[in-house]
Amino acid sequence: MITAVKGMNDLFGKRARRWGRMEEDIKLLVGNANFTEFRTPIVEEIALFKRGVGETTDVVQKEMYDFLDKKGRHIAMRPEGTASVVRAFIEHGIAMNEPLPFKAFYIAPFFRYERPQKGRYRQFHQFGIEIFGDDSAQMDAEMIFTACRVLDHFKVNFEVHVNSIGCKECRPAYREKLVEYFSSKKEHLCDDCKTRINTNPLRLLDCKTCDPKSKYKDIPVMTDHLCSACDDHFKQLQKSLAIFHVPYIIDPFIVRGLDYYTRTAFEISANTGGSQNAVAGGGRYDNLVADIGGPDTPATGFAMGLERLFDLISEDFYSEPVLSAGYALCDEAVDDLVHFAKHMSHHPVRFFADYKPKKFKKALQKADKTGAEFMFIIGEDEVKEKKILMKNMKTGEQKVYGQHEVMLIVRDLLNHESGIVRPS
Ligand code: AMP
Repeated sequence: MITAVKGMNDLFGKRARRWGRMEEDIKLLVGNANFTEFRTPIVEEIALFKRGVGETTDVVQKEMYDFLDKKGRHIAMRPEGTASVVRAFIEHGIAMNEPLPFKAFYIAPFFRYERPQKGRYRQFHQFGIEIFGDDSAQMDAEMIFTACRVLDHFKVNFEVHVNSIGCKECRPAYREKLVEYFSSKKEHLCDDCKTRINTNPLRLLDCKTCDPKSKYKDIPVMTDHLCSACDDHFKQLQKSLAIFHVPYIIDPFIVRGLDYYTRTAFEISANTGGSQNAVAGGGRYDNLVADIGGPDTPATGFAMGLERLFDLISEDFYSEPVLSAGYALCDEAVDDLVHFAKHMSHHPVRFFADYKPKKFKKALQKADKTGAEFMFIIGEDEVKEKKILMKNMKTGEQKVYGQHEVMLIVRDLLNHESGIVRPS
């Protein structure tokens, strides 16, 4: 049997309906704050991620799905969203053509060759925002607040951890301090961290394998080594978060996996007590647009894992809309059922017709199996009298309508509605 590729999931039925509504809600929430949607291709030249995400990151070194196309171009399936949005921002001259700050959002699939487990997949989905052309701490606070607003909407319990990882001015000296600190502790580090000391020492701070932060209590932290501009920015961030009523924890071990961050870095974890509880993360990336060849443009953003968010939304957050089904009991009734289906299609109710004539008992069984709460029956008598029988599957109650009394039928159905989305 051919099965889905390892670590990649199918989505259908009730879960697909709930997923769709989750995405609609997110789009409404960010639309209100004037974010516009960005859809970029699933693949990019690998050079974009090497340059944008960083050659020394796990994402680029170990987790990339990449291949040579028929012309020998080195292509990668995108492992994250920011590099692609930045590439598009530059390519379309948005800094010149649109008023700044420019606010973009995306909801899209991403690909990382990681060891699959619950909450960690090889194809997963993220919702993310990117705000270009504003270097203020207030905008960072709004960016973090946007993530919180989405989580609040879905009634998720979460914690926000913030840090500042400095800038080009102050980070190099701090980096040296870290190298010096860990050089004498090499034998207690995992193999990856032994290499990271030279390539990406900040990543030692959030390594889950050798976990230095729980072993050593005197690791130097960036917040003690910020230059005065970064220090002011971080203080202002905290002030603005308080104004947005975002509770936060200062956490000097939030460093983020990707190379491009400057100053603000943050992560949000869900209070579930389980593993894989990181639901969103991001921060400021003031140098990335210029690094990828665009005009000097400060920027800030985050990405939220949608599989993780989906699992955090309680079962009763979305109720399923009432389902009803139509059946013909004889050949002569089929055309009437077609007419009825056509009329029903104009109304905001979830209805399906089964055009193969069948005995009443069989129709009843099928309606029951599909979870229909109401069934509509057209038999010989109904054809003659231009009527339709509506049966409430739960109570057994029956009612006869004229076949064109669709408005009355719909009103009755909507009286039983549970959370249907009406077309606007
Ligand atoms: P990152 O930029 O790697 O921190 O990713 C942002 C968010 O995306 C994380 O907090 C997770 O919620 C989610 N995420 C990252 N990688 C995966 C994955 N392989 N499978 C599912 N969700 C993921």
